[in-house]
Amino acid sequence: MSQNTPIRLYNTLGRTREPFTPLRAGTVGVYACGPTVYDSVHIGNLRAYIFVDTLHRMLRANQYDVQLVMNITDVDDKTITKSGGDKAVFTELTKRYEEKFWHDLDGLNILRPDSVTHATDYINKIVSFIEELKEKGFAYTPSDGSTYFSIEKFKTYGSLARIDPSGLKIGVRVNQDEYTKENLTDFALWKAWDASDGDIFWETSLGKGRPGWSIECSAMSQDVLGDTIDIHTGGVDLVFPHHENEIAQSEARTGKKFVNYWLHNEHLLVDGTKMAKSAGNFYILQDIIDKGFDPRAFRHLCLGAHYRDTLNFTWESLAASQTAVKRIDTLVSKVGKKDDDAKKRAIEIISDDLASPKMLAFLEKENNPWLWRELEGVHGISLGTIKKELTEEQQKLIALRTQLRSEKKFKEADALRSQLLEEGIDVEDSKL
Ligand SMILES: [Zn+2]
Repeated sequence: MSQNTPIRLYNTLGRTREPFTPLRAGTVGVYACGPTVYDSVHIGNLRAYIFVDTLHRMLRANQYDVQLVMNITDVDDKTITKSGGDKAVFTELTKRYEEKFWHDLDGLNILRPDSVTHATDYINKIVSFIEELKEKGFAYTPSDGSTYFSIEKFKTYGSLARIDPSGLKIGVRVNQDEYTKENLTDFALWKAWDASDGDIFWETSLGKGRPGWSIECSAMSQDVLGDTIDIHTGGVDLVFPHHENEIAQSEARTGKKFVNYWLHNEHLLVDGTKMAKSAGNFYILQDIIDKGFDPRAFRHLCLGAHYRDTLNFTWESLAASQTAVKRIDTLVSKVGKKDDDAKKRAIEIISDDLASPKMLAFLEKENNPWLWRELEGVHGISLGTIKKELTEEQQKLIALRTQLRSEKKFKEADALRSQLLEEGIDVEDSKL
């Protein structure tokens, strides 16, 4: 299997654009941090999944066999707090919001992952992972009953987020899933049960409790994709502590490099400010649909900003994308001309650091319906089954070709097929 064009990716580890080479020729393993299913995902989260989808589609366009793994965080501080420690509420809540999540992804034409892993299905594997870290001296269980990762034992801690762990207060521990660089401390791998957890806990060799947040992604990604994985993605907000902790846990256990290429997407702002429920600028996909917008307009808007740039969402910019999508719909109702060079060029553009705005601009400039359709699997803006307007001459050629086939004059029929293909019409044959 050969690839079309060299791929370059921006790696957060080295802060450079690098040529991409997978571990195994022809195959790429991608791990994408998935959602915590305690509420609807907001449009900033959805931007992250459109970015993962663009990566996925670009790799496929380059003939790679992609194995995309995504986790569902269905147990953590947020899910437990929202369910009030009630197991039945907890189970219903996490199921409901996971379904909503897939519904949103489908609405945006985001390809489903090949493997979806749930934290609650991984408890045993998470426990053995932590036991291994304890045996190797990277984890310890103090008298509070939780198990912590000892940052001072992992000498390269902070390399991804570029933080200096020398100011670390040895032995200070944090038991919350989320915390900042300012209180950098040993973090919880396993959290001992307390009354607020109610009946949400597992009885294991580590005691009665539940996993910390970051350990699930180490356990799942290495379980499915192996000790070293090609690409790991997430939003920039996950660099610290989540991904920093994933590296520490995984590399401490295997002694091998965990991830070859780290890719992070930037934030989405609304009207130039951070989205917040309290500010009244917090939107989910349904809000967009309720205002009469096509979800494809949101996908178009996201592709129009480079994934490493902040995307400023405004209703005006969404309206402009809606107009652009309508224009594309009108354009692709025409036939267009086959243009393999333009197709190759578009794939080259997206393969260099996922330059989706450049690719969109190129497609706009070419203004070729054939090209938009041919690359539907790459841009992912669903073009539907709009009937092409065939000219009278083209209709005659198709009829003539059908007749030639019925007379078993295949050579002549094939010549006509090539001619039609040149005009962007791919004739599908039923068996004779
Ligand atoms: Zn993760």
